[in-house]
Amino acid sequence: GKSKVSPLTENRQKTTFKDVAGIDESKQELEEIIDFLKEPKKFTKLGGKIPKGAILIGAPGTGKTLLARAIAGEAEVPFFSIGGSDFVEMFVGVGAARVRDLFIQGKKNAPCIIVIDEIDAVGKKRDGQRNDEREATLNQLLTEMDGFESQSGIIVVAATNKIDVLDSALLRAGRFDRRVFVELPTKRERAAILEKYRDKVPHDLDVMTVANMTVGFNGASLAALVNEAALLALRQNDFQVNIEHFHQVKDKVMFGKKKLQMLSDKQKEYRVTYQAAKAITATYFDLPFEKLM
Ligand code: ADP
Repeated sequence: GKSKVSPLTENRQKTTFKDVAGIDESKQELEEIIDFLKEPKKFTKLGGKIPKGAILIGAPGTGKTLLARAIAGEAEVPFFSIGGSDFVEMFVGVGAARVRDLFIQGKKNAPCIIVIDEIDAVGKKRDGQRNDEREATLNQLLTEMDGFESQSGIIVVAATNKIDVLDSALLRAGRFDRRVFVELPTKRERAAILEKYRDKVPHDLDVMTVANMTVGFNGASLAALVNEAALLALRQNDFQVNIEHFHQVKDKVMFGKKKLQMLSDKQKEYRVTYQAAKAITATYFDLPFEKLM
């Protein structure tokens, strides 16, 4: 687990692009950064222009953190990370000190990547309400970003759910120049993610069927779904996980609890109305029911 004392997590346990299913486009856009990290000198000699930072933008659970680790794994360089909760400290100066340490480590170990998870925790637009700690941390980050040469072999990869909440200073030229959007998985991508997790357990399951009934699921919830289905199979002493297990756990994964049994009459009414609306829409537009959110 993450220690409170040390802000740095260097992790050499390798994650690669193979561990990230789907989101092929996002992966492609990161190839260049990987090439650079592999051979910074060669890359610059050939006239490649290296960004100092890339920002991964996408809904929670779409695999941004996983992707950031995979960049390091693909390039076979270490990574150092800091996350949203590390920034939220009671004492002014702690966040800034952590950022400083992070870059000291980074420079010592270049080529490497520095991962800043949930950068919005520190990089939110300054909204009038003063928050000295956050401001000090953000300023330190800006100083560090400006203070290393882009050829030095450090790439800062940040992740956020929303780009429009970020302070424009972070997005200025020469800082986080690359934006990579990480979208919710498409049906085909959901199938790819499901397959990855399904293959880890004994199964009799067509992933396409599950992909069809999981519109709107992100990578994290798909992984959780397979896990829940496998646990259910185990509890029921079935030796393979199958589609029935998925039907039984889907609501639990989607809503975090066994929804149907816990609804009030009012909630049931809403749900019935909603499902009816879906049925009518599906019929009207001739779409499969599962396609509707
Ligand atoms: P984010 O940083 O976007 O919130 P994470 O990278 O933390 O999402 O994803 C949480 C977990 O969900 C991952 O550790 C992984 O187990 C699973 N996951 C998410 N997206 C994918 C994906 N595209 N392929 C495989 N696993 C995924």
